[in-house]
Amino acid sequence: MTTPSHRLFSPLKMGLGLGMILTMLGYLWPRQALAHHFMDGSSQVGFVTGLLSGLAHPVIGIDHLAFIVAIGCISLNLPRFWLVSASFVAASTLGVLIYLWFPGQSGYETAIALSVILVGTLLALRSGWSGASQTLATGIGLSLLAGLAGILHGYGYGEAIIGTQTSAILAYLLGLAIIQTMIAWGSHALGRSLCRQFSTTQSFRYGGISIAAVGLLVLVSHLSMG
Ligand SMILES: [Zn+2]
Repeated sequence: MTTPSHRLFSPLKMGLGLGMILTMLGYLWPRQALAHHFMDGSSQVGFVTGLLSGLAHPVIGIDHLAFIVAIGCISLNLPRFWLVSASFVAASTLGVLIYLWFPGQSGYETAIALSVILVGTLLALRSGWSGASQTLATGIGLSLLAGLAGILHGYGYGEAIIGTQTSAILAYLLGLAIIQTMIAWGSHALGRSLCRQFSTTQSFRYGGISIAAVGLLVLVSHLSMG
């Protein structure tokens, strides 16, 4: 008997392939991949601008988006799955604060790209962690990893802060927390329906490969920009 997942051109493979190609094309130019700060150079910085900037950054920044989608999916079937995303979101807030205290550190962009490659690889291999993949210990391990990565991504968010008004910075943090939670929950729900419709192994594998490919592209972009 042939299930949809065993067909050569299943809708899942075609959808993921198309998504990957479109992502590659959209972010082909290094400038596009790197310059994802909302409203650069704006002088009118208040609560609303800060909020919009926070809401936009994780969506326009493909490195952040890919990472959050991956952690939304990787926590599927885990007890207390929300710990992984919550850990990332909380740590990213801490990362922004660390940036405010210690600005100007270099190398974090490369580390962020590596974190995307790592989480994509973990996602691609997710089904292979037989037995361990459904336990609370796995959830805690992934939450710790997500927390470490969250600090890095948060430092990157901090770099894009515009203005020095406390209200704008708080609004930026609020916007970041809202959109990151929405992306994580949305991709968790999408991942669950994909796994229900297609083979779980294949959904994780192709999703993970796509995420890791995005990370690799961002890494190459950063290295080529020096
Ligand atoms: Zn960014």
